[in-house]
Amino acid sequence: ITLKHHVDDGKAQESDMELVTTKEKLELRGENDVIVRVLYLSCDPYLRGRMRSNRDSYVPPFTPGKPMGGYGIGKVVLSSDPNFKEGDTVSGLMDWADYSHAFRLTKVDGETVPVSYYLGALGMAGFTAYVGFFKICEPKKGETIYVSAASGAVGQMVGQFAKLFGCRVVGSAGSQQKVDLLKSKFGYDEAFNYKEESDLDGALKKYCPGGIDMYFENVGGQMLDAVLLNMKDFGRIAACGMVSQYNKEVQDPIHNLGYTIKRRLKLQGFIQSDHLDLQPEFYKNVTGWFKEGKLQYVEDVADGIEKAPAALIGMLEGKNIGKQSVKVSDP
Ligand code: NDP
Repeated sequence: ITLKHHVDDGKAQESDMELVTTKEKLELRGENDVIVRVLYLSCDPYLRGRMRSNRDSYVPPFTPGKPMGGYGIGKVVLSSDPNFKEGDTVSGLMDWADYSHAFRLTKVDGETVPVSYYLGALGMAGFTAYVGFFKICEPKKGETIYVSAASGAVGQMVGQFAKLFGCRVVGSAGSQQKVDLLKSKFGYDEAFNYKEESDLDGALKKYCPGGIDMYFENVGGQMLDAVLLNMKDFGRIAACGMVSQYNKEVQDPIHNLGYTIKRRLKLQGFIQSDHLDLQPEFYKNVTGWFKEGKLQYVEDVADGIEKAPAALIGMLEGKNIGKQSVKVSDP
């Protein structure tokens, strides 16, 4: 799947991407190279940023005409890296293609959880939730956390970590089906459909009557503005992402930033890859919690690489129920 052209104005569309068939022969490039048959690809919101050429970002833009890429799961077919051999299943960075050179690899197995979970619960999304909740939010037992995009790849993990830790957990999502999942599967104490609330401030006052100690920010815009009005003194905001703004040229203004001072808030943005020192404890704890049956995970897997553009665009529009990925070939 290649990007046809950068999308600097307006909404990204499926037609901005293209399925291209080539017969390029992939060969190992010297030492420590690995080529994989791609099994799964991850659809992540940050990929929208890589479709642009005009915004300062922590990841470089895609090159038009070249394959898109990102996190994936693959089966090693050729390797000159002594750490990986033919037949190993690995997670890491790879092209949106049937076969690809692959980088920053970790071996994975499907023993505790399905291998696709290494793109979600035990992958970048789960790690983001772990860093954001346990480190950036500085939680204390009994506190109230509010999570936006709460049923998504990151949000469903944040809510469950917070419940395991002993917090009161409130979430919002964009459909009744997602709200039902939050309460019935992920253990949220309260949940609401933000699309049906004409007054977000009023909704937050209703579902978080004592105020919000921690906000796990996934969406930005009007939601952030309403949350600022409802934060308790010395509250923490973990700014993880602002997906409501990714397709916008001009970012929505935030009116209530003065509340960071009035309420003595800490608002901290973070990128999961700056916290890799937490990865060993993340794998140990999260694998353990899955083994003990304490965690659930919901995935939305599109079947076939040709579905990747629709899956990515659909996720940015909220069509995904849980972690959006694409199955490219059988494990
Ligand atoms: P999700 O699985 O949550 O999918 C994106 C969701 O965003 C959609 O399902 C939709 O849910 C919601 N959404 C889309 N448009 C809007 C809108 N206009 N207003 C409100 N919500 C909207 O994605 P992820 O879990 O992978 O990512 C969640 C957030 O985490 C993103 O902001 C992402 O950029 C960020 N992130 C940050 C990382 C970091 O290191 N800082 C790493 C990984 C992710 P709904 O139907 O509920 O509206």
